Amino acid sequence: MPATFKSIRPVMGVNSLLLLVAAFLTVAANGRFWGIVFAADLGTGGHGLLVIAAVAAALLSITVLMLLPLSVPGLLKPGLVLVLLLAAGAAHFIGDFGAVIDRHALASVYETDAREAGEWFSLRMLTTIALLGVAPALLTCWVRIEWQRPLRELFARAKLALAVLAALAIAAVTCGKDVASLLRNHMELRHIANPFALLAAQLSYLDHARNDGRPLEQIGTDARRGSALPPGPRPVVLVLAIGESARAASLDLNGYTRDTDVSLHPVPVVNFRNVRSCGTNTATSVPCMFSGLGRKRYDDGIVKRRENLLDVLMRGGYDAIWLDNNTGSKGLAKRAKEIHVGSAPDPDICNAEGCYDEALLRELDRLLPIIRRDTVIVLHLLGSHGPAYYARYPERFAAFKPECKTNELQRCSDQQIRNTYDNTVLYTSYVLSGIVARLGERRVLPADAPIRCLAARGHAVRPGQCPEMGAPAAHGAVPNFDAAMLYVSDHGESLGEHGLYLHGAPYAIAPDEQTLVPMLFWTSQGFAARRKLDSECLRGRADAPLSHDHFFHIVLGLTNVQTVLYRRQLDAFVGCGMG
Ligand SMILES: [Zn+2]
Repeated sequence: MPATFKSIRPVMGVNSLLLLVAAFLTVAANGRFWGIVFAADLGTGGHGLLVIAAVAAALLSITVLMLLPLSVPGLLKPGLVLVLLLAAGAAHFIGDFGAVIDRHALASVYETDAREAGEWFSLRMLTTIALLGVAPALLTCWVRIEWQRPLRELFARAKLALAVLAALAIAAVTCGKDVASLLRNHMELRHIANPFALLAAQLSYLDHARNDGRPLEQIGTDARRGSALPPGPRPVVLVLAIGESARAASLDLNGYTRDTDVSLHPVPVVNFRNVRSCGTNTATSVPCMFSGLGRKRYDDGIVKRRENLLDVLMRGGYDAIWLDNNTGSKGLAKRAKEIHVGSAPDPDICNAEGCYDEALLRELDRLLPIIRRDTVIVLHLLGSHGPAYYARYPERFAAFKPECKTNELQRCSDQQIRNTYDNTVLYTSYVLSGIVARLGERRVLPADAPIRCLAARGHAVRPGQCPEMGAPAAHGAVPNFDAAMLYVSDHGESLGEHGLYLHGAPYAIAPDEQTLVPMLFWTSQGFAARRKLDSECLRGRADAPLSHDHFFHIVLGLTNVQTVLYRRQLDAFVGCGMG
């Protein structure tokens, strides 16, 4: 029997195996890539086919060149198996979520935690990895390699390399212009060409990680409190509510047809309608906002070894606390205080998939009564974090139905996905109203009122149409501090527009859904009086084009922390009463 088995085991040379694996990857692990190429306008008739052949030859050639260094005895099979498995994983995210593979995507993978990783896990993911990764990997292991003498092998590799370089050259000469314009019109192609994009992203990630050994760069060492907001008997509390994956277009404050922010209707917030994010994922946007570098100068390698807004605020006499219900401060709160709300879970608002953002409110309830000094509190919300939107809100907030009760978005209709996402926005607006209630706002609705209102009115309530919501009532006693809240999302989210889901598109081609984010400001009368803020004046600036670049300077302005880092022209609140 062993002899028979051996006899049906295919035998091949190294070049043949490399070509076969490369051809498999080019064809099978690039579904979305080919979808975009075939749908593109490549000219009529035979010319279009020629361009497609050139693209195929180029992708195959590049893949062969990538695999060539693996062709050493002992390394070849384990190397090919690893490439096949990684490419299958990448193909799942590219194909099912419209993801791109760049260093930000890799950073998100490397910096994820067990809960977040668990949410990505699905039967469909296993199937894709089994078909595109495990099956060809097993076949690769089964093949018997015929190794020749080292010099002959070297000669064979050189021949293969020359052949694919010649193929690349021919493709470039015949269709170079067409391929270049294809890449320009569809910039995502270079980020989804599998497994090329994986290698490019990994090299770029490592390049940026080299900065990790540098000493910490101090910034704003001149920071001190200005005379416009001196420490007084009542501490100042500024809450910065950040994140997550909320898009401006899904707030009815911004004209959305559903009353997703009904909880905020009675609250006198200032709504900025035209705010752009710094990046399209958390790992870029959040550090960018706190860096003060601005989107164009932002570099994630640099900020890893550089102080940030919280350090400057602490120099200006503020305590800084980071309350996290997301994936952590990514080191931003290293020198401040960081509290993860999921670490001591309340069973009624936490489950295996984490805690609802109400957990942040409970932490505020514990924290606010003991504040004696001026304090900036960052609340890192979980908000609308996908793909498990359904896990972000308790059942009573499921106003829009039917929901998508799985993290496998492709199993749901776009309407279900939108319903579920809108429920997360509805819940976030409830959490935000809970924050301002704790900070002293008296015009807040009873907790369940939003749902009662939506149940009574159906899915398209207009503002002011909910008399049954009852009279606004504040939370507990009037606090003994003067507070304000600035809420801004880290980036937006795609819900099927242009065939895209989730977020993370390269910024240059990211659709508005991923980069236009909500930004809301609320101030207590006490804080407004001390900082001489005029909310009506701010409302007059609701449509001004703003971005995360302004965040750093608005916060320095609100807290009256003076430093050479502060740029008055980026403080969108200047001129609305502030000295
Ligand atoms: Zn995010």
